[in-house]
Amino acid sequence: MDTKLDPSRDDLPLMANTSHILVKHYVLDLDVDFESQIIEGTIVLFFESGNRFQKQSGSTKEPCRSESNEACRFRMPEPCHSPVTDTRTFSSKTRSNDFTICGKGEKDTSGKDGNHDNWEQASGISSSKYCCDTGNHGSEDFLLVLDCCDLSVLKVEEVDVAAVPGIEKLTRSPKLTVVSEELRNQIVCELVTLPADRWREQLDYYARCSQAPGCGELLFDTDTWSLQIRKTGAQTATDFPHAIRIRYSTKPQGRSVTWTSDQSGRPCVYTMGSPINNRALFPCQEPPVAMSTWQATVRAAASFVVLMSGENSAKPTQLREGCSSWHYYVTMPMPASTFTIAVGSWTEMKPETCSSNDLAAERSLSPSEADFRYVGICGHMEYPCRFQNPSATTQEIIPHRVFAPVCLKGACQETLLQLVPPCLSAAHRVLGTHPFSRLDILIVPGNFPSLGMARPNKEKTGHVSDSGSSVVKHGLNPEKVFMQVHYLKGYFLLRFLAQRLGDDTYFAFLRKFVHTFHGQLILSQDFLQMLLENIPEEKRLELSVENIFRDWLESSGIPQPLQRERQAGAECGLARQVSVEVEKWIRMNRRPRKRKRRETEQVFEKLLPDQLVLLLEHLLEQKTLNPRTLQSLERAYRLTQQDAEVRHRWCELIIKHKYTKAYKDVERFLQEDQAMGIYLYGELMVSEDSRQQQVARRCFELTKEQMDRSSAQVVAEMLF
Ligand SMILES: [Zn+2]
Repeated sequence: MDTKLDPSRDDLPLMANTSHILVKHYVLDLDVDFESQIIEGTIVLFFESGNRFQKQSGSTKEPCRSESNEACRFRMPEPCHSPVTDTRTFSSKTRSNDFTICGKGEKDTSGKDGNHDNWEQASGISSSKYCCDTGNHGSEDFLLVLDCCDLSVLKVEEVDVAAVPGIEKLTRSPKLTVVSEELRNQIVCELVTLPADRWREQLDYYARCSQAPGCGELLFDTDTWSLQIRKTGAQTATDFPHAIRIRYSTKPQGRSVTWTSDQSGRPCVYTMGSPINNRALFPCQEPPVAMSTWQATVRAAASFVVLMSGENSAKPTQLREGCSSWHYYVTMPMPASTFTIAVGSWTEMKPETCSSNDLAAERSLSPSEADFRYVGICGHMEYPCRFQNPSATTQEIIPHRVFAPVCLKGACQETLLQLVPPCLSAAHRVLGTHPFSRLDILIVPGNFPSLGMARPNKEKTGHVSDSGSSVVKHGLNPEKVFMQVHYLKGYFLLRFLAQRLGDDTYFAFLRKFVHTFHGQLILSQDFLQMLLENIPEEKRLELSVENIFRDWLESSGIPQPLQRERQAGAECGLARQVSVEVEKWIRMNRRPRKRKRRETEQVFEKLLPDQLVLLLEHLLEQKTLNPRTLQSLERAYRLTQQDAEVRHRWCELIIKHKYTKAYKDVERFLQEDQAMGIYLYGELMVSEDSRQQQVARRCFELTKEQMDRSSAQVVAEMLF
């Protein structure tokens, strides 16, 4: 693999024209088939367009109008000549949430940054493609662009929401006599803006609308990164149908879901997010600015459990013989990339005996209409928010379930289950109100790419065009996934701030921050800005957003403040204890073999896992460690039974000192901890030791099929 960054290959385009039209709700209706490794069904999208965008919330409700005078007009590029992407011929002078008149494609400013050509290559969209099939009907049609990749789209149609019995209650007219596009859009408009206290009714209407008959197929086209839909004669986003149904199926090789097997060897499938988020699971608006709610009905064979990031703890409904259906929903608008699904033969893990305390915690606090008193100030768009519900704000432990392959039952019961309530309670203590009403925890298979997701963050992901489309820089570069520098720096920056300000000030601020910004997209700058505004002058010292950025973000290497802290850290008790142990090991390593008797008498202190990591890192600095020392080291701390961080360092020691007797530990790590194992492949290869290289190749051969795609690509590049 070429390790150089290549924008045409590495940048992830976000194509959706979110500046013109926004999805407010998705209704998914899907069948999961393990035999064919395909998920198929329909998705219904409900939109809000132009003239509603300026409205802040549903509290001051204005009648919906469908006049198109404020909306953007889609303009086709000149036939076959313009290299400019369709979605970029818009112009507007507004933020993405605003909506203004713009009829004419202005000069494209994005060419300046050199992205221009790359964009076109990456997206595959070019005007030439369009002029071939627009015929003579589409040159002025509005084009809906959805992010979509590796999906087979079979049919797109407009949904006749006016056909839903009782729906006329949403509109001002008592009876629906003349059903027009305008009326249908007016219904959707009323529906998406129902106030938060009517969320249940709204969900119900969405569900019923999603099953309404179609009223006309829409023209569509797909390319590498998008699905483009238009309706002949609908020239603006406002005229475009506000409820559409897409029938589609996923592809087995699609990059949003991984079909694999769990630790018990049974099939499962899950969304892995990285690197292309959910666009190979359903057509969506990927930019995080498109915040929407969703509900989903998912069917699978009855032996499977369907888990999703919904707000309700779904239970299966038995359909026909051997088939179950699961229904989940969310009422809090979130970016489409936060949608997750996992289907597998997992078992719900429960404590062996249920104490009365647990039962009390399990009593669910589902958001009930009456419970929402509008206390506190919420800055987000309207939804039934837990921060406004007094009983929810004091709930330390939210209802939770733990799912795992049956072979891990023992470990779950012995260790994991007891840890969840104190963790939830600690999160509540530190951060305040839990934003979600419940939690499902799933033990994912070993090939889960756990090293973070290349998520687009707000709209500052790169150049954002006027249609709302943008690029996530290097979003598709498989190696970027394994870069941890930004996580590490972020962690140490927060620690640094906590130390500088003192725990009380810092944690009080964290709670205030969460309270202020919950339900909203924020940038790191917002966090730092608010932090500095909230701390007393005398504690601020030389801190400013600018110098934090300079010291922590823009400079390479270990940030200055951290270097000072590192020196101070070496003097702390836990670290000193490790240094003493390191000295013992080094002395022992130097001792000649015949003094074995005394060596067994050497007493080593018990160390915490973090101390073990530090100890092994110090020992990694040693030029030579003989096999005898390594063997004693493993025995003294039972290294093979420690957590993955410790075992990772242990494997590094094995590789560095060519301790062949323990190669099996490396092999085990490479198979069971695949995401972390990536680094070890590099170390095995770099020494050019044929036996080590064999280990690497053998393990890759065994795991490459189930390995996540980016990992497999990176490893293959190292090995061959
Ligand atoms: Zn709120």
